[in-house]
Amino acid sequence: MNMSSKTETRALAALDDPRWTALRARDAAADGQFFYSVRTTGVYCKPSCAARPARPENIAFHATAAEAEAAGFRPCRRCKPDQPPLAQRQAALVAELCRFIEQAPNPPSLDVLAERVALSPHHLHRLFKAQTGLTPKAYADAHKARRLRELLQEYGSVTDALYGAGYGASSRFYAQADALLGMAPRRYRDGGAAAEIRFALGQCALGAILVAQSERGLCAISLGDDAEALLRELQDRFPKARLIGGDAGFEQLVARVVGFVEAPGVGLDLPLDVRGTAFQQRVWQALREIPPGRTASYSEIAALIGAPRAVRAVASACAANTLAVAIPCHRVLRQDGSPGGYRWGVERKRELLAREAKP
Ligand SMILES: [Zn+2]
Repeated sequence: MNMSSKTETRALAALDDPRWTALRARDAAADGQFFYSVRTTGVYCKPSCAARPARPENIAFHATAAEAEAAGFRPCRRCKPDQPPLAQRQAALVAELCRFIEQAPNPPSLDVLAERVALSPHHLHRLFKAQTGLTPKAYADAHKARRLRELLQEYGSVTDALYGAGYGASSRFYAQADALLGMAPRRYRDGGAAAEIRFALGQCALGAILVAQSERGLCAISLGDDAEALLRELQDRFPKARLIGGDAGFEQLVARVVGFVEAPGVGLDLPLDVRGTAFQQRVWQALREIPPGRTASYSEIAALIGAPRAVRAVASACAANTLAVAIPCHRVLRQDGSPGGYRWGVERKRELLAREAKP
């Protein structure tokens, strides 16, 4: 075989390979699944690398970075194929800061945090919020409150607990008690007295659906076999609210929600009335980052919000979600890939996942 036909054979073999398609598309979803090296430059890359594409005859595929290095290739400086993906590095960095905040006697300032990880304060603030759903300040407050709850059980005296949790003056604590302890506003505790909640019942591909909205946004999307049971559950949740059904303007909104539940890929651009503790809100925020077609494990969510040991609490927060699909708790699975629980029936969870898995 002469030289040019050898090159041609190699090029055709590369083009025939499905990995070539992923590489041409710079498909980030393929990152970690394989690596490719370029004979002419001596470097190897991740499939998503932004470098100019090499000619197929110069490319070889490798299952791992170690394999590419064993074949004599250097990691590309641009896509850093020898390092974990950016999202993972960022999650680790934020988790490290969460530990730092928890151990600090006083909440560290944004500047101190930013300096610690060599980022600008602005960039860090954005990154921290994207990862945890909270600002560093809110995270520090939530941690202090959690600590207080623990100490209140441990100590007999409220004052001792307050000082133990780092609150100087108790008056400041009492002023913030509701927010810090993650209690719902008084009105909510009273069962939604004086609040108006509009609701509608309908049918969707997953059975009966109830959609309800307070003045702050959607407060319930529930699924079930029996529409009346869904309504009774709403009444139990808001025993003192005025429930208003059958409003023509609201029916349109319900149609949008039903369309979204049946095809989550379309997105739902409506405000949500999310009521929960600081911890639950962090979990729900993290759930909203999982796109349709993807899943995460309970422990991945726990790690993502900087509480890697709180796997059971994450599962409880998922179970406490009252907004089906809008807060996609159905995208969280057990570590072994089994579906785990679902407030609205595990069969519906399976059905939702099966629909989203289709391209
Ligand atoms: Zn590269």
